[in-house]
Order: sequence, then structure tokens, then C-alpha cells
Amino acid sequence: MEIQEITLPVNEIIPFSNVDGRGNRTSIFVQGCNLNCVYCHNPETIKLPCEETQETNYTIKELLSIIKKYGPYIRGITVSGGEATLYSTYLTQLFGEVKKLGLTCYIDTNGLFNLEKMEALIPITDKFLFDIKGINNLEKVTRKKQVNSFDNLEYLLKLNKVEEVRTVCINEYIDLESTVKEVSMRLRKYDDVIYKLIRVHHRGLTLNQKELVQGFVPSTKEMVHLENLAKSIGVKNVMSIF
Ligand code: SF4
Repeated sequence: MEIQEITLPVNEIIPFSNVDGRGNRTSIFVQGCNLNCVYCHNPETIKLPCEETQETNYTIKELLSIIKKYGPYIRGITVSGGEATLYSTYLTQLFGEVKKLGLTCYIDTNGLFNLEKMEALIPITDKFLFDIKGINNLEKVTRKKQVNSFDNLEYLLKLNKVEEVRTVCINEYIDLESTVKEVSMRLRKYDDVIYKLIRVHHRGLTLNQKELVQGFVPSTKEMVHLENLAKSIGVKNVMSIF
């Protein structure tokens, strides 16, 4: 199949977002994820594309024409999801075209990708927004068997490709203190990288998810403690989202 004919399954496009990386950005939410996190606030994007999902499939030309429309008002695009890196071949091609418009290209990822499959995409991606779900017992929170993503994070940090690292804070499911320590030790050398600590919340969750997270939301005091912990290890740029 010609590259021009490959399509990207898109669940939603948000024309203007200022929470998906620096500046005003068009956010593209792909359909399909390799995880199934208990707190996922985009649960409708998890299922891989099939007849039951409601994605729209865009060729590169079609998506580019939408991006061009918003071009004068944005700094760039962020591809989120779902898991954007499942579509690395398409994105490599798309980003090549988007950069010709003078726009930057970001990826929001859960970090669980095969580096070999990302060989062409990483160099053309300006920045990654990188989730660290936790350091152990990840099956409990992501409900999938997986390996740790710290190696991928370190690889991208060395290339200066990470704008922010995010950890969704939920008690019991993950060891929050150890997670924050491990991430902070890696980030303290990188002054520009933001470490975002996001308190798990109920908005956008299904009823079943609400039941699963209920009772495990960290208190304000616990969040402040985690923020101070990261700072005490040397992270310059810590942000708590309550
Ligand atoms: S990695 Fe992100 S999109 Fe995928 S299930 Fe987890 S929170 Fe949802």
C-alpha cells in the first residue's frame, strides 16, 4: 500500500489545546491503546479500531488539510490517544509534512513502545510528553502485562526530546513515593523538563472506573508531600495538578 493511502484512526481532534504541550496546539486523539489503565480519562479511545469503535480514518492529505486550517493560530500539533506510537509509520510521514508548515510535532505517550519501531519517528518529533505509570505492580493499574518504560525515558531524555513527564497519582495501585523518587532521580539533571504530578480524578471515567479509583485519591497533603519530595531530590520544575 502506498504511504499516501495509509490512514490514521482518529477518535477526536481538539483544534486548540493548551494542556498538551507548550503553546496553543491542535490535539489529535488516535483510536487504540496497548494499555487499559483503571483511571483512563479517555476510555473510549482504548479499543483498537474495529466496527464497534467510532473513529474517523484520515489519510495524511486529509489530516494535513485540517491542520492547515488551524495553522495560523497554533504552535504545533500533539498526537495523543489512545497510544500514538502504535502508528509510527503514519506519524513519521505526517510530521514530515507538518514541519514544512513551520509547526512543531509532539507525541503524548505511555512510554511503552519498541525503540526499533520508533527509529524514524523520534528524530522528526520535537518533544514527547511521557507517562510514567509507576515502578512496580504495573499490571494492577494498567491491566496489561508490560515491561517498565524507564529505558525509553532515559533514551529520550539524553536526546533532549522530553518536555514533560507525568505520573497520575493514585494510592494503593502504585507505590507513589518510590515512583516519584525514581523519576526525580532521572530528571534532576534536566532543568527544562517538567515533572507533572496529576491527582487522579473522576471526570470522564466510566461508572466501573469510578468504583475502581474511589477511595484511592491522594489527599492534598499527600500531593504536597510528593511535590516536595521531587523538589528535594533536585527536580527544578515540578507541577501538581489537583
Ligand atoms: S495509556 Fe493513556 S490512553 Fe492508554 S489506557 Fe492508559 S491512560 Fe488511557
